[in-house]
Amino acid sequence: MSSVADGSIQPTLRTALNAVPAYVPGKPASAPEGVTAYKLSSNENPFPPLDSVRVVLDKALDVVNRYPDMACVDLIAAIAAFVGCDPANIAVGTGSVGILGQIIQATCDAGDEVVFAWRSFEAYPIVAALAGARSVMVPVDAGQRHQLGLMADAVTERTRVVIVCSPNNPTGTVVHRAELEDFLARVPRSVLVVLDEAYLEFVSDADAPDAVAVWRAHPNVMVLRTFSKAYGLAGLRVGYAVAHAPVAAALRKCAVPFGVNTLAQVAAIASLGAREELMARVEVIVAERARVVAGLAEQGWQLAPSEANFVWFPLRAQSGPFAAACEAAGLMVRRYADDGVRVTIGEPEANTRFLEVCRSFGPR
Ligand SMILES: *Cc1c(COP(=O)(O)O)cnc(C)c1O
Repeated sequence: MSSVADGSIQPTLRTALNAVPAYVPGKPASAPEGVTAYKLSSNENPFPPLDSVRVVLDKALDVVNRYPDMACVDLIAAIAAFVGCDPANIAVGTGSVGILGQIIQATCDAGDEVVFAWRSFEAYPIVAALAGARSVMVPVDAGQRHQLGLMADAVTERTRVVIVCSPNNPTGTVVHRAELEDFLARVPRSVLVVLDEAYLEFVSDADAPDAVAVWRAHPNVMVLRTFSKAYGLAGLRVGYAVAHAPVAAALRKCAVPFGVNTLAQVAAIASLGAREELMARVEVIVAERARVVAGLAEQGWQLAPSEANFVWFPLRAQSGPFAAACEAAGLMVRRYADDGVRVTIGEPEANTRFLEVCRSFGPR
């Protein structure tokens, strides 16, 4: 007998779900026989966990029969000390994707608007649609940069949130301090501006803003950061927001109770403590990025400068063939339909192999 009841009457689901795009995760690594596969599709950190982080994780395993500290007191204190702010200004969540959901829940009713660049992080239209909010997507320019002027123009009385992703995933570009200030001067103070700094630690551009300083100067700005990329804890799901106290309190209300688990809390605290060691790894990744970018330029590729741990190829109709060429060489990359392909800076051997694929494919 079937466990599914017959009949045409189904539980009623929110119609807003029909507008929710599916999140496309990066492909897992797979490769032809005898070839090491590399996953360059999710902007992960190629370094394994630090020994000092493994030690605290091992110890925390002893208490996974207990609930985590729901208020994340020690983690929030450590983050506040690192940022140089009051703990009341910090909220944590299950990755910054989790916090993005909290932000939209805290701000948007059905029909409200969320403005962001496109292409940008594909979680944005998902979290907006889940709330029944409308995504207002402002195209990046020919240089793959945010058009902050057009984004300010796009703000209406229904706009609740504007998200500025810098460096932008997947295009790799940053916004500059001066253009961000001009933009903020035009956005009403009733609209929350989220500066998503998931790739902050990889930035070399001296004109990139200090988002915490921008947050301090503007009552409607907040900063979103993650332990997933530079800190190498993507699998543990923990990120944080720096926000003015009322916004931070609203984010805490919207959190999944006990969402940030004990392992994530202790690993994030240990990682802040091991920041120097982790930033030395980031320097290695940034040096690898420079090597890849220089190799591509020498091959004749003309790409937007990347300030993150990935490179963006706006290949349009060539996106499919390019991704297929990478995958045939055991390199999993992230293709965005016929817009382009994003390739994460990975292990040196993976990067070298990637440059070979690019050389055979030929610059476009
Ligand atoms: C990876 C990424 C995040 C962080 O995701 P987590 O949920 O913290 O793993 C946030 N924003 C952007 C733009 C990203 O690319």
